[in-house]
Amino acid sequence: MRIKILVSSCLLGNPVRYNGTAGKLDKNLQSYLEEECDLYALCPECEGGLDTPRQPAEICEGTGDDVLGGTACVKTCLDRNVTDSFILGAQRCVEFCKREEISICILKERSPSCGSSTIYDGTFTGRLIQGRGVTTAMLVKNNITVFSDENINELIQHLKQNETV
Ligand code: SF4
Repeated sequence: MRIKILVSSCLLGNPVRYNGTAGKLDKNLQSYLEEECDLYALCPECEGGLDTPRQPAEICEGTGDDVLGGTACVKTCLDRNVTDSFILGAQRCVEFCKREEISICILKERSPSCGSSTIYDGTFTGRLIQGRGVTTAMLVKNNITVFSDENINELIQHLKQNETV
C-alpha cells in the first residue's frame, strides 16, 4: 500500500507563502516521493483563514508548544494577534491527517506554523531559536511524525525502516 504524506503546500510549488511565493522540495526527493507515496498539500495558515499574501507573523516569546499551552502568542509584523488563526489552522491539519489516516508529514523549516527544529524569535530581525511551529507541535501531540524539508536523509531512512519503499 502506498504511504500517505502531508506536505506543506508551499513546498509542492503552491504560491501560499505570506508574500505570495512558493517554496520547493529538493527535486530528487520530490520525484522519489511522487513515485512511492501519495502526497497531500495543505497550508495551515490558509486553513486558519489567513489571506495570501499576508503580513509575516512570528511566535512571540516562545514556541508553538507554548502557543498551545497559552503562554505565547503569534503576531504579525504590524502587531496584529493572529494566534487564533494559527491554532485553527493546526487543528484543521490534525483533523485532515486523522480523516485521511496520514501519520507522516514533511513541513517547511523555520515557519511559525510548519517549523520543526527552528523558528524565528518573534523580533522580526531574522534571529532563530530552537523550537517548533504551532501546527508541528499539535501534530506531534497527536502522534503524527513530522519531518523537516531540510532533513531528507532522516525521512528516507524512516520510510525504509518501515518497509514502505
Ligand atoms: S504555513 Fe506552512 S505551508 Fe503555509 S506557507 Fe507557511 S510554511 Fe508553507
